[in-house]
Amino acid sequence: MERLKGIGVSGGVAVGAALVAIQRTQVIRFPIAPDRVSRELSALERARRRSHEQLVGIRARIAGLRGQELAAIFDAQLLILDDPMLVGRAATIVCEERVNAEWAVQRAFDELAAVFNDVADPYLRERKGDLHDVAGRLRMNMRGEKGGARDLLHDLDTPCVLVADELTPSVVAQLDWTCIRGFATDAGSRTYHTAILARSLGVPAVVGLHDVSQRIPPGAAVVIDGDTGDVIIDPSPADRQAAASRVRQEERPTATAAGGPAITRDGVRVTLQANIERPEDVGAVLAAGGEGVGLFRSEFLLSGGPPDMAGEDEQYHLYRQVVERMAPRPVTIRTFDIDEHQLVRPPVDAALDARWFSEQERPGHAGLRGIRFGLAHPAIFKTQLRALLRAAVHGSLRVMFPFVSSVQEVRAAKALLEEARSELQARGIEVPSVPVGIMIEVPSAAFTSAMLGRECDFFTIGTNDLIQYTLAVDRTDERVSDRYEPLHPAVLKLLRLIRRGAQRNGIPVSLCGEMASDPLLLRLLLGCGLTEFSMTPGALPMARRVIADVEVRDMQRVAARVLALGTVEEIERCLVDALGGSREPRPVGIP
Ligand code: PEP
Ligand code: MG
Repeated sequence: MERLKGIGVSGGVAVGAALVAIQRTQVIRFPIAPDRVSRELSALERARRRSHEQLVGIRARIAGLRGQELAAIFDAQLLILDDPMLVGRAATIVCEERVNAEWAVQRAFDELAAVFNDVADPYLRERKGDLHDVAGRLRMNMRGEKGGARDLLHDLDTPCVLVADELTPSVVAQLDWTCIRGFATDAGSRTYHTAILARSLGVPAVVGLHDVSQRIPPGAAVVIDGDTGDVIIDPSPADRQAAASRVRQEERPTATAAGGPAITRDGVRVTLQANIERPEDVGAVLAAGGEGVGLFRSEFLLSGGPPDMAGEDEQYHLYRQVVERMAPRPVTIRTFDIDEHQLVRPPVDAALDARWFSEQERPGHAGLRGIRFGLAHPAIFKTQLRALLRAAVHGSLRVMFPFVSSVQEVRAAKALLEEARSELQARGIEVPSVPVGIMIEVPSAAFTSAMLGRECDFFTIGTNDLIQYTLAVDRTDERVSDRYEPLHPAVLKLLRLIRRGAQRNGIPVSLCGEMASDPLLLRLLLGCGLTEFSMTPGALPMARRVIADVEVRDMQRVAARVLALGTVEEIERCLVDALGGSREPRPVGIP
């Protein structure tokens, strides 16, 4: 048993197994149930085999193009891949520690990398780069697998206690909060924000624990006391019993799933839709009372494969399935938001050359991506458009183009949509007219939103990208990711500009970035005049509660004050004071 002391910021007691989420490394660590171990091991083995095939293919191609000497790099990588110290060790970690395979690969990599650091021979030290490449390839091949991090986040087996180094919006947005009994975080610096999150969710929380995410092994029993700031690891039976009886007494209301329409205290109706990636996610949307799908990230259908992998019929059946199950609710399907690097396909992966880029390092996030990719590959784009138009007869479908940065792009994409329509008509297929909208997620689109609004039927604001391109911060680059700030004055001013651009054209605007999944930011967004949101299904109950408890009039006054402030700190303080000051107690122990 071990007792840690932090700052209790949301009262009550939580008892459960620890779900440990480490964001610093970009890989999330999860405890897994015993029956999940074999699934994780199979995913690991499939990733190893796929990586092997890819490396053999790349080796052969490089040997042909550049000679055996360069190709030998891949011999070294193949040896690393087959070394029991990497995949074998990862499998042992999965079995012994009952954690997800992606994390286990990261751990095995860290252990091996430390060995490479200690060797004197510079040639051997250099092999660390190869090790890094191989581990990156393995992790990448594991993504999209059933049982991968994304699934685990969506699909928690049992209620648990979340232990994290930091609780950033990207994790908040993916979690099913109905399964989180409480949380504890290392970070104490952003406690204002975290405290409000905890209280909004009604879950006990302790923050400022420094290294709790390192101390608690995944799956360990934990007690979190949000009143005293105590965290007990491996509690004694007496502690556990005392905590359990307090939980029973408190029995705090958990966020209810589906409810009626979301209406603020002063009667403003707010539309709540969901972001999904797979047709199977529709069940979660309906269970959470989602009023539609505000963003279907269709590129996930490709699971990292080439975009011509999915044919028209195959796509049509998938879109139809989603639209029919959601009917009569609207479904907004975004055309593939992939970039040129996702065209890479062994053994003809011309773009990779002798270097493997992990997802974080991969260049070209602002390259031939989204609508640009569609326009550069009209055959692939039109195949998807034909499938979408055909699916539209089965319900309420809207087509949305991602990563738009100019009026010309929208016109060109709409022209291809018309071509797709004519091609279907030539085959004797009648298609209904379909609303066409765009993602506003690039600053140039935000600045020209009044003009873009003339070209389309709706806007969806993608704050995930808008923030990173406005602030020139790659949020996957940990050296600068702390500057990724939704509350930056530039971001807030752009949101206002986009809303006005939509208003001027009389078209609806919704927001589907992760920003909306944060209770504090959601209130501010309501104050900025936004009334349509799309978020991960797990966040919908939280949003419903926040909306039911807010007066838009109050938030409009707060938003007006906030928009006159120059720094993130001033804005955050203003928000917290405005909200905390009136209804919520100021966080205990925080200056
Ligand atoms: C966004 O950019 O905010 C968005 C929702 O799109 P994605 O996260 O898929 O880039
Ligand atoms: Mg985006």
